[in-house]
Amino acid sequence: MQQFSIAIHGGAGTILKEDMTPELEAAYLKALDDALTAGYAVLEQDGCATNAVKAAIVVLEDNLLFNAGRGSVFTKKGVQEMDAAIMDGKNRDAGAVAAVRNVRNPIELAAEVMHNSNHVFLSGKGANDFALKQGVKLEPDEFFFSQFRYDQWKAMRDSDNYSLDHTHQGLEELMKDKKFGTVGAVACDSKGNIAAGTSTGGMTNKKYGRIGDSPILGAGTYANNATCAISCTGHGEPFIKAVAAYDVAAHMEYKNMNLHDAMNEVVHKKLIELEGEGGMIGIDTSGNISMMFNSAGMYRAMQNSNGEKKIGIYKD
Ligand code: ASP
Repeated sequence: MQQFSIAIHGGAGTILKEDMTPELEAAYLKALDDALTAGYAVLEQDGCATNAVKAAIVVLEDNLLFNAGRGSVFTKKGVQEMDAAIMDGKNRDAGAVAAVRNVRNPIELAAEVMHNSNHVFLSGKGANDFALKQGVKLEPDEFFFSQFRYDQWKAMRDSDNYSLDHTHQGLEELMKDKKFGTVGAVACDSKGNIAAGTSTGGMTNKKYGRIGDSPILGAGTYANNATCAISCTGHGEPFIKAVAAYDVAAHMEYKNMNLHDAMNEVVHKKLIELEGEGGMIGIDTSGNISMMFNSAGMYRAMQNSNGEKKIGIYKD
């Protein structure tokens, strides 16, 4: 019987047990479990992989712990600009948005682009206009405000630095217990179709309309039934240069590698060459899952119809 399965991530970076309080760790584990449950429920009811991916990501976007949707980081100008993408491996249909503001669930807007526009990638004000037209839920600026994100930004805003919200980079004290990340999901449904989605607020103090890897198909997000579905997290610039998500698919297609070996090649060799700290989750059409990172930790979880379920934060 076709195995169905789902994996999710909530960001990778300098995530260390010694920096975590028991309460915060419990909150993360619950948040990951909630999102996994929402996505898995779609698959159990014979829903499609893209809907499972969307359902899981919406739960993560609504949780302030993660740097996506409501919990997005501040840009240099002190606002939130969010990126998201979703891709269906069955036909390679895809939708992506970049630098959107006030959209409660950017992954839903990306899905609207995929299903209801003639385009693949919308940005900025145009993407927001499309959100209005499609009736995608918008929220006022206050909805996206959280004190810890504000404090992260305040410590950086007068510098030229930008940072992964879940990596120290000189902000040790401030970042303690506050390492929250980009979110993503990959799923394989009961028909053997796969999909991937990623959603992010990007990097703290980003400027000039910076867009990361998350919404770029092939870089942070990719799905093709011929190979795999991938969602990445980490320092976006090297992931873009490595075309990281597609490179996994290319290793499978052209070198006949399995998912695990292909991801290993990209995460532990190709990205390292470019100093690309981070990780990714991947799935193939048999429902096999890999969750891999070259950083200290990655918030992650998986569940499949063979009764396996795992939730993790640190290195095993
Ligand atoms: N990859 C994201 C970006 O560069 C950041 C992250 O994964 O947290 O925008």
